[in-house]
Amino acid sequence: MTVRVRIAPSPTGNLHIGTARTAVFNWLFARHHGGQFILRIEDTDLERSRPEYTENIFQGLRWLGLTWDEGPFFQTKRLEMYKSAVQTLFDKKLAYRCYTTPEELEALREAQKARNEAPRYDNRHRNLTPEQEAAYKAEGRNFVIRFKIDDDREIVWNDLVREKMVWRGSDLGGDMVIARAAADGIGVPLYNFAVVVDDIDMQITHVIRGEDHIANTAKQILLYEAFGAKMPEFAHTPLILNQEGRKLSKRDGVTSIFDFKQMGFTAEAMVNYMTLLGWSAPDSTQEIFTLEEAAKLFSFERVNKAGAKFDWAKLDWINSQY
Ligand code: GLU
Repeated sequence: MTVRVRIAPSPTGNLHIGTARTAVFNWLFARHHGGQFILRIEDTDLERSRPEYTENIFQGLRWLGLTWDEGPFFQTKRLEMYKSAVQTLFDKKLAYRCYTTPEELEALREAQKARNEAPRYDNRHRNLTPEQEAAYKAEGRNFVIRFKIDDDREIVWNDLVREKMVWRGSDLGGDMVIARAAADGIGVPLYNFAVVVDDIDMQITHVIRGEDHIANTAKQILLYEAFGAKMPEFAHTPLILNQEGRKLSKRDGVTSIFDFKQMGFTAEAMVNYMTLLGWSAPDSTQEIFTLEEAAKLFSFERVNKAGAKFDWAKLDWINSQY
């Protein structure tokens, strides 16, 4: 089996250190196994995606030396594929049109809040009759397309970092929206759905991404099953944390890769430092390596479960070694 991994940034901002670190781990894993590293731009959020961010992502990855073997692929150029995938789920009776209005959803959320319940869609339009559907259409209601999620389903996977993960269908917020409507029926797909369609099509063998995607993975596994597709392996990498132990964010100042460049850090030092954000070499005293050297040593056995604290002193020290 050829290892195939991908990095799938959304061009809604400049290349962020979290995305760059995910790219580093994917790149190292691909190189370690003589596999392929694929670049996919997830630009279906039309309002927030910008070509200049896409350009920044390309330049940032190139600057770091994280060259890709295939792509870039753009999700907005693949809309026909998502439409036919939605149709497959309609045909299998695993998806349906939901006409619940934003006001009705808001009322549902309020009622759940009052009962101290987590927000979830109550699947009320799962079994509409053709007459009910026609009536909603006649009212001029818009729809979204939802994928059925059984509450009592158990979802289990063996994560390469987190080990055994167990989720229940009831944790996933009810039937999930996979696509919006369009004049001709099926419109823009949503993140979880487009990702699975793409990862199947691109024959991705290992999905390596931040642990903030764990709940998405549980949902995505149900989609793989619905398509009858082979499941990839999943690896959820620890988040990068600030000094207070919270996820590093824009509020912490520098987060985009070129901010670090402007501060005088070299590309070699940056990739070296990012390699150590959650991973250590078998000889943990070894901290200076090129990407090629780290690729020889890389494995998920040495990726931590705990978050990786951003350490300026260490970054400075690594930078001084180059
Ligand atoms: N577009 C998603 C993100 O930027 C990709 C996550 C994934 O790797 O599936 O977070």
